[in-house]
Amino acid sequence: MNRIGAHLLAGVFRGFGTNAKVIETYEGLDLGKEFTSGKECFPCIVTLGDILLFMKKERERLGNRFNPENYIYFMPESDGPCRFGMYNKYHRIVLDSLPGLDKVKIATLSSEDAYSLSGLIEKEKIQDFRKAAWLSIVTGDILDRLLWRIRPYEREEGMTDRFIDEAMERMTESFSKHSSGKDLSCILNDLVEIVCEAKKIIDPHIPKKPLIGVVGEIYVRTHLKSNQDTIRTLENYGAEAINASIAEWINYTTYDQVR
Ligand code: SF4
Repeated sequence: MNRIGAHLLAGVFRGFGTNAKVIETYEGLDLGKEFTSGKECFPCIVTLGDILLFMKKERERLGNRFNPENYIYFMPESDGPCRFGMYNKYHRIVLDSLPGLDKVKIATLSSEDAYSLSGLIEKEKIQDFRKAAWLSIVTGDILDRLLWRIRPYEREEGMTDRFIDEAMERMTESFSKHSSGKDLSCILNDLVEIVCEAKKIIDPHIPKKPLIGVVGEIYVRTHLKSNQDTIRTLENYGAEAINASIAEWINYTTYDQVR
């Protein structure tokens, strides 16, 4: 998932009373490789490494106080021919094979039921959670689009990255504060303000650059370290780029569910 969307979604979880955080990513790649054969999809190796490294660090940090039962690892899945549906099952096998980690739970959300979230959030709140989670995904896409639109034309190098980091924090806070309420307009107002402020970063004297569309496997295309920050590389070569969104995948799975 894209970095911004992951942080916003964690904000939504917190808004519904779940102590959620985005774990460090890619640093555990060697661990992921140690427990895979090399034939798995790359995102499976990356995400396995992420959870193994996180649990290792938690064990070191907490020592005797480490209790694997205090953790729920959030890993959605999908049905159909895509092997994404196998990740959590494989992660389960690996976790079960390591002392104590068999107690770490995996929260599995499946596109089979259009990510209905049963079990993770109180039943009567699921509808509101899904609404806010969807908004966080769309907002994450919008902030990404904003980044790609303004960075190639920024007045001063680094301005956009700093601006987007701050915007992500501001929107994460907004989601954790307002998600569980019925009225999500405060979140939208914050987003509109950010978009208006972002316009000031653009230097109108920089001529329009060639626009490149990026498509590909959903995880790798949105995971900066897995794709070696392809969009930034394209920008450094003088292009403007747009990546396909995360929301299109949710749209697709929802459509597949109801057709
Ligand atoms: S789309 Fe991703 S998860 Fe699915 S089979 Fe391809 S690489 Fe694997």
